[in-house]
Amino acid sequence: MVNSDRSYLTAPSATSLVAEPTEEYHHTASSQQQWAEILVDVPGVQGLYTYSLPKDLSVQLGDIVSVPFGMQVTGGIVIRLLETPPADLDRERIRDVEDVISSGFFPDDYWQLLQRVAEYYLTDLMSAIKVALPPGLLGRSQRRIRLCQNKLPPGAETFCSNVARQILQLLQQQKDGNYSINYLRSQVKGASRGIRELSKRNWIESYLESPRRIQAKLQTAVTLVIESWLEDLTPRQTEILQILRNNGGEMWKKALIKEARTTAATLNKIIALGYITFSEREILRKEQGIAQKTDIPQQLTPDQATALKEINNQTGYAQLLLHGVTGSGKTEVYLQAIATILEQGKSALVLVPEIGLTPQLTDRFRARFGEQVCVYHSKLSDGERYDTWRQTIQGEPQIIIGTRSAIFAPLPNLGLIVLDEEHDSSFKQNRPIPTYHARTVANWRAELNNCPLILGSATPSLESLVNCREVGTNGIRPIDNQTTYYLSLPERIGSRPLPPVEIVDMREELNRGNKSVFSLSLQNAITDIQARQQQAILFIPRRGHSTFVSCRSCGFVMECPHCDVSLSYHYTHEGAAKLLRCHYCNYTSLQPDTCPQCCSPYLKFFGSGTQKVTQEISKLYPDLRVIRFDSDTTRRKNAHRDLIARFISKEADILVGTQMLTKGLDIAGVTLVGVVSADGLLHRSDYRAAERAFQTLTQVAGRAGRGDEPGKVIIQTYSPEHPVIRTVKHHDYASFSTTELEQRQALSYPPYGSLILIRLSSIEESEVQKNASAIADACIDLLDESWSVLGPAPASIMKVARRYRWQILLKNTETQTSNLPDLSSLKEHCSQAVSMTIDVDPINID
Ligand code: ADP
Ligand code: ZN
Ligand code: ZN
Repeated sequence: MVNSDRSYLTAPSATSLVAEPTEEYHHTASSQQQWAEILVDVPGVQGLYTYSLPKDLSVQLGDIVSVPFGMQVTGGIVIRLLETPPADLDRERIRDVEDVISSGFFPDDYWQLLQRVAEYYLTDLMSAIKVALPPGLLGRSQRRIRLCQNKLPPGAETFCSNVARQILQLLQQQKDGNYSINYLRSQVKGASRGIRELSKRNWIESYLESPRRIQAKLQTAVTLVIESWLEDLTPRQTEILQILRNNGGEMWKKALIKEARTTAATLNKIIALGYITFSEREILRKEQGIAQKTDIPQQLTPDQATALKEINNQTGYAQLLLHGVTGSGKTEVYLQAIATILEQGKSALVLVPEIGLTPQLTDRFRARFGEQVCVYHSKLSDGERYDTWRQTIQGEPQIIIGTRSAIFAPLPNLGLIVLDEEHDSSFKQNRPIPTYHARTVANWRAELNNCPLILGSATPSLESLVNCREVGTNGIRPIDNQTTYYLSLPERIGSRPLPPVEIVDMREELNRGNKSVFSLSLQNAITDIQARQQQAILFIPRRGHSTFVSCRSCGFVMECPHCDVSLSYHYTHEGAAKLLRCHYCNYTSLQPDTCPQCCSPYLKFFGSGTQKVTQEISKLYPDLRVIRFDSDTTRRKNAHRDLIARFISKEADILVGTQMLTKGLDIAGVTLVGVVSADGLLHRSDYRAAERAFQTLTQVAGRAGRGDEPGKVIIQTYSPEHPVIRTVKHHDYASFSTTELEQRQALSYPPYGSLILIRLSSIEESEVQKNASAIADACIDLLDESWSVLGPAPASIMKVARRYRWQILLKNTETQTSNLPDLSSLKEHCSQAVSMTIDVDPINID
């Protein structure tokens, strides 16, 4: 919502602030931009307001300025310069910007980036700004008043009004002549008037307190200085030094005292002997400790070296897809590429799917780069986020590691962007608007900053693959103009083999009378783990609601004859006819009682949760210790990290979890990975189901055998002949992607076409349905023939939190949606009770 009209309402002209009539004449004569839209950020209000720019004030885009707002003066950011003010505003009553507080606060192209986000994702600029800037950015900057001692004539107070005199006196009593406006207001009635009077005479000036440097928290670290010790130590002292050495020779003092069960006095004695030193170290607010082992650059393998060379060769914008199998050393390549960037005095931005799930990655960056690493993600408190944000704009070379929204970190001097696990769907924001994809934004940002973007993955998204490989190697673009590269790391470090994958046909298990969720093969493997005291991960690919219907005897899945997606089961009420629906086109059929393919009565819908599996293990293996890892057990802050740490320290034998477990886990003790049922992934009612299934299963399989012991993967499924299962078995990304791309092309799905999803929801079922039809009709009128309008159809989970959800899918055979007509008029077809959002490039079509 752009509130530009509200400045008219909330900032009524105070006589002293209206532009002088003489200046009014310049408005038409000069083409200069004399108005600006300013993002005003005061407690409770964040919005864009129009102000005029005094002639003698030079104002740039992105400047932080002070503006009158209602009865106060507040901070704001210049978002847009205007040649003419909005027509609906009375020029006479538009108020002036007071002063420029700070210039160059944001990188030059920052606003261009936000503008582009707003345009592409069909939202207003304000929504884009809201995802980018932390809340209360300016609210936290205190506006202050200081006395201009040298301009103050003797006996100044005799020239003043009563209020101005009181303010002057207050300031003179304070030794620096400096107070916050809020304080002055609390002390003097009508302070604003007095302040304006005094500043007109130049006796005082007002300023926004400049961003405070973060108060770094300091903590004492203990460092081992001598590696081999002499006879002068007591056994106890030797023991303490050994603990320190085992921890990489460096620990927080607190941690060492705790782990060695010793005291500060004892450590002081060892210091006196010259074996260790203390030093005060800065700890970032989110830091969990010093990295356990100091990490030095590895000697690169030839593949890694080739990739790094290509990255380092880039002098401007480029997109480099780093396709490396799990454990092939991608992270090492990022680390070394970033080291080069830092040496050049530039900064790097590293995006990861979920910080909480990748503590190991963050630790490795800290081990290599120490305090230059900053973490930014949505679980930080507002204060932490604000501090990090402020630190990023200091301009010193640094690394920001963050989730999706960190793509907006206003790092000046950006030299490199890395998206790790670039295929991951959490880079896409589903709600609220703008529904941006961090990879898309990262690409724009790299273009605007003229720096390279590395996309790393073991299972690249088909978008990135098509973008970087096919274009790059086909020579479609002239070689000297090349901006996309495909870099490959086909082998694990140390030539460790990828684990063998065994596929278990669960239909056979049923035939053999095994009704347990574990096949005999998986049961045997677990027994094996127990005997060898190794560890296992059991994985349950599960979505919120598993609604597809399949046959437990033959694996047949009910599909839509038109859309090539599985049909969803819709529960309406007890005793109602069981309906199956396609939520793309609304094709509907009754659920048959028996399987249309084999006539088995075991035709049912799917779903088996972590809880059930955990119970089953406890029943079959009472001695095994299990940790459950799902959205229920990981709700607490740091819970991810704690549970994984407990598993790594062998407090449990089996980790049972959902999707969350797929990401970046590197645990040497894990030799068995079991997928309890792959089917929940295979038959999602979504055109991306196969891609996501392949990615998830490959990533999960990649958790096995990362240590010295070889690993093994068992995947249970009712559809062993499914192409995804066949390709996962052979770790065959190439053949998977070739087949999948052919299908996408045939149906014009991305990356060969583009989609826009219109989501509608309401408490009123008939209302949302009615609106949906009207909007679909309006779309047909608005869009040209390159678009097809699919639906309206109910969402696969039709009712969520008392709201009925319908959707319309717009599909284009072209990949560019740039010539899209204005869809904002669609809102006219929406009644009050119905909410509508537009998702450009949706990736969750349910
Ligand atoms: P990926 O990010 O592709 O999963 P990593 O970068 O985590 O792979 O590497 C896997 C393991 O191999 C890590 O323990 C890492 O320290 C190690 N490693 C990476 N590169 C090398 C190398 N060139 N020489 C030796 N070990 C390496
Ligand atoms: Zn069947
Ligand atoms: Zn359909």
